Amino acid sequence: MKKIAILGSTGSIGTQTLEIVRKNPDLQVAALAAGSNVELLEKQVREFRPSLAVMWNEQAAADLKERLLDVAVKVAWGMEGLIEAAVLEESEVLVTAIVGMIGIRPTIAAIEAGKTIAMANKETLVCAGHLIMPLAKEKNVSILPVDSEHSAIFQSMQGEPKHRISKILLTASGGPFRGKTRAELQDIRPEAALKHPNWNMGRKITIDSATLVNKGLEVIEAKWLFDVSLPQIQVVVHPQSVIHSMVEYADGGIMAQLGTPDMKLPIAYALFYPDRRPLEGKRLDFYALSQITFEKPDTETFRGLTLAYKAAEAGGSMPTVLNAANEKAVDLFLNGKISFLQIADLIEACMAAHTVIPAPGVEEILAAEQETYENIEKQLIVWKRGHGGID
Ligand code: NDP
Repeated sequence: MKKIAILGSTGSIGTQTLEIVRKNPDLQVAALAAGSNVELLEKQVREFRPSLAVMWNEQAAADLKERLLDVAVKVAWGMEGLIEAAVLEESEVLVTAIVGMIGIRPTIAAIEAGKTIAMANKETLVCAGHLIMPLAKEKNVSILPVDSEHSAIFQSMQGEPKHRISKILLTASGGPFRGKTRAELQDIRPEAALKHPNWNMGRKITIDSATLVNKGLEVIEAKWLFDVSLPQIQVVVHPQSVIHSMVEYADGGIMAQLGTPDMKLPIAYALFYPDRRPLEGKRLDFYALSQITFEKPDTETFRGLTLAYKAAEAGGSMPTVLNAANEKAVDLFLNGKISFLQIADLIEACMAAHTVIPAPGVEEILAAEQETYENIEKQLIVWKRGHGGID
C-alpha cells in the first residue's frame, strides 16, 4: 500500500491523480488540499477518506469542517495546513498539483521529511530550483516529474548514461495561435485562448501555452530537473503532440517518448516509477497518423519564450519575476483588463524594473513575488497612460 498526499486535489492534475487512485487499490490517499472549492473537496474526502483535509482559506476550512462532522478527518487551513499535509507521517509521496509559488514551502518541507515528490507544480522549480534540487540530493529524495514533457525526458533517460546527454529536445504544440501574426493576435479573447488544440488543462496553464510562457517555464524546469545548461535545451514546435519530448545523446542517437496526449500517463509513471501500470485510454494508431511535423518556434510573435530564456540567463530572482508577472498578467487577461499581447509586455516591463538577487532564499523569492505583484499594477497604469486610456 502506497499512501499519497495531494496538494491541489480539486484541480486538473489533482482530479486526474484521484482517477488513478480509483483504479489502483494499492494507492491510498492520506491528505488532500485545495484552495477554495469546498464542495469538491468534501466529495473527495467522502470518497477517499484521507486523515487530513486542507483548505487555503480559513472560512472555507470552517465550512468544510461543518460539512464533514460525520467523517473522521482533521481539517486544517493555510500554509500551516499545506505543510502538515506535505510532511504527514503516514504518507510516502507528495503530489504537488497546486498552481503558483505557494508550492515552494510545502515542497521544501516534504523533501526535508524524506517524501518522494511527484512534481506538477512547475513554479516551485522555476523560482526555487536552486534550493529544491540540492536539498533533494542532500536528503536523497526523488523528484519525479509529472509535467508531460519532463516525464517524457525522464522516460527517455532510463538506462542511458546521463553524462552522455548532448541535448534535450523539448516539444511544444505551439498552442491555439500557432502561425498567427501579432496583428491577428491583437483582439484575441480569453475564450479563444482557453481552447488548447491537444491538451485539456487548468485555465492558467492553457493561457501560458498560448503565449509560450509555459514552454519557457518548462525550459527552466528542465534545466533544474536534469542538470543541463540552457543551450542544451532546444524547443521544437510539434503541433500534433505525439512526441512528448526527446533526448539526444553524444552518439547522435535520440530517445523519445510518444503517446496520445493524456496527463494520466505521466502522473501514473511518477506514482509507480519504475513500474508502468496498465492505463485505459486511446492508443496511438500509426496507420491513422497521417503526418507528424516540426517547426522552429516563432519567438517574435510569442515573446513569452524569449522572455523566459532571458529570465533563466539572468538567474537568481529573475525567474520569480517572470513567473509572478505572468501569473498576474494572465489573471488580468482572463478578467478582460488587458489584451493577449500585453501579457508579454507587462512581463518584460516587470523584468526590466527588477534588480536580480543572486541565489535568493525562500523569503527573498516571496518578497520578489510581492514586489512584482505591486509593480505590475504600476506598469499597467504607465501603459494605459502611454496608450491614451484608462478603463
Ligand atoms: P488547476 O487550476 O486546475 O488546479 C489548481 C489546484 O490548486 C486546485 O485544486 C486549487 O484549488 C488548488 N489551489 C490553488 N491555490 C491554492 C492554495 N492557495 N492553497 C491550496 N490549494 C490551492 O491547475 P492544474 O491542475 O492545471 O495545474 C497544477 C500545476 O500543475 C500547475 O503548476 C501547472 O503548471 C502544472 N501542470 C499542469 C498540467 C495540466 O495538464 N493541467 C500539465 C503540467 C503541469 P481550488 O480548486 O479550490 O481553487
